[in-house]
Amino acid sequence: MQTDFIYEALPTRVIFGEGKLDQLAPEIERLGAKRALVLSTPQQEDWAQHIAQSLGQASAGVFAGATMHTPVSVTEQALEHVKASNADCVVALGGGSTIGLGKAIALRTGLPQIAVPTTYAGSEMTPILGQTENGIKTTQRGAIIQPKTVIYDVNLTLTLPAGMSATSGLNAMAHAVEALYAQDRNPVISLMAEDGIRAMAEALPVIIHSPQDKAARLQAQYGAWLCGICLGSAGMALHHKLCHVLGGSFDLPHAETHAVMLPHTAAYNEPATEALSRAARALGTDNAGLGLWELAKKVNAPTALKDIGMAESDLDKALEIALKNPYWNPRPLEADSLRALLKRAWAGEAPSA
Ligand code: NAD
Repeated sequence: MQTDFIYEALPTRVIFGEGKLDQLAPEIERLGAKRALVLSTPQQEDWAQHIAQSLGQASAGVFAGATMHTPVSVTEQALEHVKASNADCVVALGGGSTIGLGKAIALRTGLPQIAVPTTYAGSEMTPILGQTENGIKTTQRGAIIQPKTVIYDVNLTLTLPAGMSATSGLNAMAHAVEALYAQDRNPVISLMAEDGIRAMAEALPVIIHSPQDKAARLQAQYGAWLCGICLGSAGMALHHKLCHVLGGSFDLPHAETHAVMLPHTAAYNEPATEALSRAARALGTDNAGLGLWELAKKVNAPTALKDIGMAESDLDKALEIALKNPYWNPRPLEADSLRALLKRAWAGEAPSA
């Protein structure tokens, strides 16, 4: 039992359940706002327009330019829409990319945000914003960045394709796995992490065969919520660091990179921490790394960096960047072992300590 810790709850109001998108207008009012600008990616613009229309007088229109990695140039365009439309609140409808834009606007204007997540990435539950400018990604934290309200409506996840559901779900599980062994872990977050991993591990195999299965989608969304809280509440280590380098410096796709790396980083850390026994238990196995590897294969997620755009010749460079600024990890960062880890992940081999 952990007997020495600090626990601080994050203040987001969460509305969870099928059809809860109908609570959007009352929630805007509850925030004291009168005109909400709805944000989305170009791919989800139809939904955003539909929602804006349903808001009637409370709509300040749509900005559908959200894109991966929250480029500052896109945020600046969105800020012009905020100004021109007299918006006093933003509604981010979508995955981590759109929610990132909502956070970037809130950071610059202080406007309240409502997040309506449609993937499992978890950004809606964190006070963290990653943004890119001139090809460099920087991350910052702050209370103003955290959405005030989150509406989880399962109906908005039914269209998430099976492949993206699998990788997004594994991305969520990565937050919980790293929260279990985080230096600043605490018993409440560990409970959430274990249940989040369990919920996602049970739901994903059902979803990839039956994307319309509402019970499984609800379970995955519940898992995503818990895993998102883990990301917002505990410090991340080797796994998120490696994924940040692979995504930021080699432009690998976000969720797929997490999906490939998670079994390997868990296997690397497993000998150094008792905490991962909870992940193994949640996966119904006695080895977290292998359990995650089996799950990734079962849900047809990518298992090799070579299949998602990584050149073998760049592995040493990735390692060099990842080791440049040392950070805490339950197992010390050993260059030779990490090189071997990256090679296995690149080739799609089974994880090993
Ligand atoms: P995404 O938001 O980039 O979405 C990927 C694509 O899927 C987009 O085209 C989107 O429109 C589409 N999509 C989303 N939901 C859909 C649905 N239900 N049906 C059909 N299409 C749908 O993907 P993501 O993985 O959610 O987010 C990745 C980004 O979020 C990265 O930039 C990552 O760094 C960031 N992120 C940030 C945090 C944080 O706490 N700051 C946490 C997790 C992820």
